[in-house]
Formats: sequence, structure tokens, C-alpha cells
Amino acid sequence: MIANPIPWPDGAQCACALTFDMDADSLIHVARPEDGHNRLYPISMGKYGPQVAVPRILETYKNLGIKQSFFIPAWCMEQYPDTIEAILKDGHEIGHHGYVHENPTDHGAQEQVYWFDRALAVHRKMTGRDPRGYRAPVYNMTQGVVDLLIERGLLYDSSLMGDDIPYRLQTDQGSVLEIPVHWGTDDWPPFAHYEEIGYMMPVQAPSVGLNSFFEEFEAHYEAGGLWMPILHPFLTGRLARWRVMQNWLEKTLSERNVWFAPLEEIAHYIGTLEERGEHRVRTDTLPYYTKPVLLDRTD
Ligand SMILES: [Zn+2]
Repeated sequence: MIANPIPWPDGAQCACALTFDMDADSLIHVARPEDGHNRLYPISMGKYGPQVAVPRILETYKNLGIKQSFFIPAWCMEQYPDTIEAILKDGHEIGHHGYVHENPTDHGAQEQVYWFDRALAVHRKMTGRDPRGYRAPVYNMTQGVVDLLIERGLLYDSSLMGDDIPYRLQTDQGSVLEIPVHWGTDDWPPFAHYEEIGYMMPVQAPSVGLNSFFEEFEAHYEAGGLWMPILHPFLTGRLARWRVMQNWLEKTLSERNVWFAPLEEIAHYIGTLEERGEHRVRTDTLPYYTKPVLLDRTD
């Protein structure tokens, strides 16, 4: 089913990574720059992530003995330093997720570099190192950001949707590993209801919303793939949803042959396989297009 499945460590049948994007209340400030600071309901909904959900998630991870990845806008890191400290203390990865969840397609190249580097400086100061991975806010990658990741030496991106398993993005500047996302394993469609940012979905029952993720897992398990939900603490970290997820994790870790790891570790592992010539991931060469397609008329 998958053309070139990756041989996972210790004969694991499937690699798994829960990734949490801790956007907190950055979203309302970006969506409503004039008055977002005084909209207490969306602020409180966002703050639930670092203040209530992340401690709950960390406790589950500790009990299960797994390390996972978080993507956090640098502004949120500065706002919630205790949460960041707790994540780091438990040995989890924190990836680059913009400065204040700014959308890369909203900015020119120079401004993109400014926000990217400003976030990098916060990572260095608060985590003592450069982040190894990046996820574009709202998945809005541009070729400029891909080149920036290569230039700044990041190991992987996790924003694009071009395959079921990791593949490589090659540009004139070099290459970066892509660990692909998709909407079928993102918790916004089943659980987000957020009128202020134009996103209103009929909220599903925890077991219904999460069951679609578990079906995605079964397909990856059968094909030897990588199952990677894209979650948000203020959505999936809510009491009843996390209870369903936690029960599923307990069962899966005890009954199935799976490898749970942070994305950084998965990316390193794939890099090592490639160096040893034991596996080669598929490569997409960029740019896909050099000019607007619809305007390319010759008549
Ligand atoms: Zn985000």
C-alpha cells in the first residue's frame, strides 16, 4: 500500500507521534489585532492549553513512558515559561511554530526572515538550543520558508501533505526532510468552533472525532507507515477527549508493535538509514511553479 515503507527500529510495525501545536491565545491576537487583547472568551479558551491541558498531557506521557513533540509559537513560550519548563524537564521536543503564529503567506520575504529569526532567538534562550523542526502556522509553507529552513540548518519540516510517510524537499539551496501532515489527523475539523477566526465546525463527540484518527492509525499500522496526529492542547487536551485518547494510547502501547518517538528522533533515524544506504525516501524537487499558473497565457 505504501511504495517504499521505512524499516522502523526494532522491527516496529508502525511509527507514531502525537504532535501538539500549543498555540494558546496567540490566534486571537493575530486574528483581531485591534481588540483581541480584550476578548476574554477566546483568550481563556487558548490559555486552557498551557495552564490545564499540557500538564494533563505531560502526566499521561510520563505514565506511559513516552517522549513526544510540541510546536509552540515563540510568543507563547515567553507568555507561559512554566509550561515550557515542564515540557523540557520531561524531555519532550519543542519545534519552531513562528513567533506569534503569523501566517508566512501574509508576509514578504524580509518580514518572514525577521519573525523566523526572532522566534529562533527565543528558542535558543529558553531551550538552550536551536529547534530541529518546524511547522508553519496554518500549514502555510512557501518556497521562501523551505529555503530558510535549509539555510538555518533545520532537520525537518512538518507542514505539507505530499505523501503518507516522510519524504525530502529538494531546492537549489539543499534539502530538508518533510514529515507530512493531513487534515484527516488534525483536530480542528472535529473539535474546533472559533467564530472570531472564521472557523465554525459542528463539534463531534470525543469518541466520534477521535475514532477517525484511530482508523487512520489502522491503515498506517497495516502499511508500515507513520501515524502522526496534529493536535492542540485546547482542543484534544480537554477532559473527555483526552480521556478517550489516553485509554487508546494505553491499549495500543501494550497490545501493538509500535514505536512512539518525537519527530526529531524519527527524522534522525531516517537520516541515519539514508547515510547507511539502507533506505531512500522519495524526493520532491522545488519550486513546483515559478509563476502564477493561471496568468501563464501565451495567446
Ligand atoms: Zn498552530
